[in-house]
Amino acid sequence: MISFSLAGKRALVTGANTGIGQAIAVGLAEAGAEVIAAGRSSCAETVALTGGRELRLDFADPMAASGAFAEPIDILVNNAGIIRRADSVDFTEADWDEVMDVNLKAVFFTCQAFAKAALARGAGGRIINIASLLSFQGGIRVPSYTASKHGVAGLTKLLANEWAAKGINVNAIAPGYIETNNTEALRADPARSQAILDRIPAGRWGEAADIAGAAVFLASPAAAYVHGAVLNVDGGWLAR
Ligand code: NAP
Repeated sequence: MISFSLAGKRALVTGANTGIGQAIAVGLAEAGAEVIAAGRSSCAETVALTGGRELRLDFADPMAASGAFAEPIDILVNNAGIIRRADSVDFTEADWDEVMDVNLKAVFFTCQAFAKAALARGAGGRIINIASLLSFQGGIRVPSYTASKHGVAGLTKLLANEWAAKGINVNAIAPGYIETNNTEALRADPARSQAILDRIPAGRWGEAADIAGAAVFLASPAAAYVHGAVLNVDGGWLAR
């Protein structure tokens, strides 16, 4: 029988205090998982919503999660991410490095720490990386973000190739335009906001909760044979 249940599973979600991370944490908890809400800010609200617990970590140090997998964890969601906007001719080294560290380097070394621990226990697991439409498209004025998210898509496929036979499923979700802190600047610009809306076939911006179902699916027994996929949840944007 097909199962979407996560009963008995423990999940760690990074950047779980708000936005997409919080919505995924809630979705995984609703499907039965025990959720560790990891973030640099307090995850108290998410803990209240999920009944789980919090773990403080800051990916300004990309190795910050190296000690997080001493206890068995079945599902890792690499959601924490940042964006910096400026014309490419003016883009600073700091805006390049900070984004690459949080969005790409930390994702790789968190995956590595998770897999090392799972393989040492003789267990499999699920990794879900949060990619972006800018894993496929160029975007504008966000060079480090676009580079990092193309990297996340590539890394997802590479790790799937290495770990699929070891029982670790590595997949990604590419959210479309979602109403969170990440897109505040876009939504504050009426012309840009309307232009984006005009090309979304679904006719609306996404909400964080729109991403949760895909995460539950990829974490669940139903997705056992899904490896290296980047699942678009974008209201049809990429189909346009
Ligand atoms: P958000 O509300 O800004 O959430 C980003 C999360 O990452 C927050 O929890 C944030 O914590 C955390 N974070 C940032 N820097 C961190 C660090 N150094 N250490 C630990 N945690 C850190 O935006 P969101 O839209 O929910 O973003 C979640 C993910 O979805 C990101 O990877 C983003 O790139 C991706 N995404 C978003 C969209 C969209 O349209 N919104 C589209 C495609 C992909 P703080 O609250 O403490 O800053």
